[in-house]
Order: sequence, then structure tokens, then C-alpha cells
Amino acid sequence: NTRLDQDRDRGKIRVFCRIRPLTRAEQAKRYHIIVASLDDYSVILDTPRGPREFQFDKIFNPECTQEEVFTESSGLIQCAIDGFNVCIFAYGHTGSGKTFTMVGDRDRRNPGIIPRTFTKIFEIIQDNESKFEFKVSAYMLELYNERLQDLFVTPTEAFSKRIEIKRDRKGLVFIQGAETKEAASAGELFALFEQGCANRHIAATKMNVESSRSHLIIGIMIESRNLTNGSVSFGKLSLVDLAGSERAAKTGAKDDQLKEANSINKSLSALGDVISALSVEQPHVPYRNNKLTQLMQDSLGGNAKTLMFLNISPSDCNLDETLTSLIYATRVK
Ligand code: ADP
Ligand code: MG
Repeated sequence: NTRLDQDRDRGKIRVFCRIRPLTRAEQAKRYHIIVASLDDYSVILDTPRGPREFQFDKIFNPECTQEEVFTESSGLIQCAIDGFNVCIFAYGHTGSGKTFTMVGDRDRRNPGIIPRTFTKIFEIIQDNESKFEFKVSAYMLELYNERLQDLFVTPTEAFSKRIEIKRDRKGLVFIQGAETKEAASAGELFALFEQGCANRHIAATKMNVESSRSHLIIGIMIESRNLTNGSVSFGKLSLVDLAGSERAAKTGAKDDQLKEANSINKSLSALGDVISALSVEQPHVPYRNNKLTQLMQDSLGGNAKTLMFLNISPSDCNLDETLTSLIYATRVK
């Protein structure tokens, strides 16, 4: 059991920093490693002005496996089944390892948090089936340039649909106009996810945009009915692979790219504002400033449990982005 399971963590945001290994391309170009962990909780970044130290709830070194990362996070899945709202999201520049952490590598040989979560949910369900009846359903969306796209329908269908973010009486976010699909097994949930990824890929190709320039949001709703007393609890798990946090290139960015970059910057800074308002227990939390924070509203703050992965590259070629990311993540504390 990790520290995440504990009740005092309610409403708090934990930040785990994961340092990826140097890629083969970076090794070939003889880039240097400028990031090191001092212990389980602090990293040092070597900058031209000297070393800078940053603290986190946990550091994962380059050699850490997907399994180790998942083990540290999986207490939250039990929380969602117990009726809490939980959010796990990955933040970092393009190429820092967000998708590797959340989804896994392309050939699916090293599955990340999302597929492992699917398996874990249904393992827990199986262990409790004699006492509870469960219903699992999910939606999957992409947020690109302030536009929400339903990934459970074909891009052509999705384009003509109007989607709105709504909240029910309990404050739970639901997506009006988007498909919510039920899944009876981990395999079914995984098939839905794969279909969503395929739709995302088709849409990205059609519009000629990179998937790293949009936010991916999966909401998994878990309803459980106690067979003895009939009481029902409802938990939700939001899994988010954010768009790359890098700034727009200062020169040469065309209109479309600028619009795209501005939209990403706006949403990520809105997210930063919400998180920092929560961490200083500010009474007004500016959720409504952006679609991204509206989407994540029910799993940030309140009784929700939130886990942020800050993904960083160890390479000197990413010094600026890494420093910016580390500073962004410190606002959370
Ligand atoms: P992002 O989604 O942030 O743009 P990716 O997850 O696509 O970044 O990672 C960039 C590259 O680095 C990919 O080739 C990926 O497989 C590799 N990579 C990222 N994190 C790790 C890791 N922890 N171990 C091994 N390879 C990694
Ligand atoms: Mg990615």
C-alpha cells in the first residue's frame, strides 16, 4: 500500500517525476545527461548557471520499469472502485515520455498505466463479485484547439457532433453528445480504447496535426451496488495524456501552429492555475477558465485524488523545456 491510499491525501495532488532514458538518437548525437536524482524525492538539474534542485513525492529513474511505476499508482484504482474520483495525468514537453507512461510503447510490449488500469479494475471486480454488482462505462475524448472530439465514433461522425461539458447534480462531469460505452471485461475496455486511438489517428492524419498537439482524456465510470444492503457507490477515474508543453517556436511558426500553441499554452496554464489555487486552499478555484480544467473539474480538488506525472528528458538538448516543466510542477506544491 502506497501513501496514496491514505485518507489524508484526499483533495491533495501528488506529483511523481519520471526521468526517461536517453533515446538512441540522443545517444548517437552524444547528448549529455544533465538530470540526476539525489534520493527518492529530489532531482538535480545541471544548468549553465549551476545546479537546481526540485522536490517531488517520488522520483522514477530512467531504469524504472512500467510495472514499478504502475505499482506505485495502482492504489488509486481501488479508490475509484470505492467511490472516489481519481485523476492520473502526464505533463511534459513532446518527447519527454508522457505517452510511454500513460499508454506504453507503440508495439504495446511495454504497456503503461492505461492498459494496466483496465486489467486492474476487472481484477478487483472479480475479487468482489460475490458481494457487489459492478457496472463499468467509459468515454474517450480529444481536445484540440478548444474543440472536443468524441473518439468513440468515426472522425466524420465526430466532426458533425456538438459536444458539451456538463455537470450532474453531484458535480460529476459528463459529456453531452459523446458516446459512453459499457465494458464487461478488461478486454472489452481495451478494444474500445484501441478503437479510440485508431479514430484519433485518422482524425489527426486528416487534419494534418500531430497527436502530441492535443489532449487525450479517458473517463472511466465505476458503479457498484452492494448486494447485501442495495447501497450504490459511484467512482470515476480520469486518465489524461496532455498535449506537449513546449512553447511555440519563436520564428517560423505559421498561423495554424501559433493558434495551436496558444491554445495549448492557455489550457496548460489554466490547469496550473487550478492546481496552485487548490494547493494554497484558495476559496475560488478557476475551473471554468478553460475546457481542459472543466473536463478535469470533478477529479481535481474536493474529495478527488489526483496524481500528476511530470515527465522529463535527461538530455542537455531539452534543458529549457525541462527547466520550465520542473518550475511548472513546483507550483503544485
Ligand atoms: P511524449 O508522449 O511525451 O511526446 P513519448 O512517450 O512518445 O513522449 O516518448 C518519446 C520517446 O522516448 C519514445 O520513443 C518512447 O518510447 C521513449 N521513452 C519514453 N519514456 C521512456 C522510458 N521510461 N523508457 C524507455 N523509453 C522511453
Ligand atoms: Mg505523446
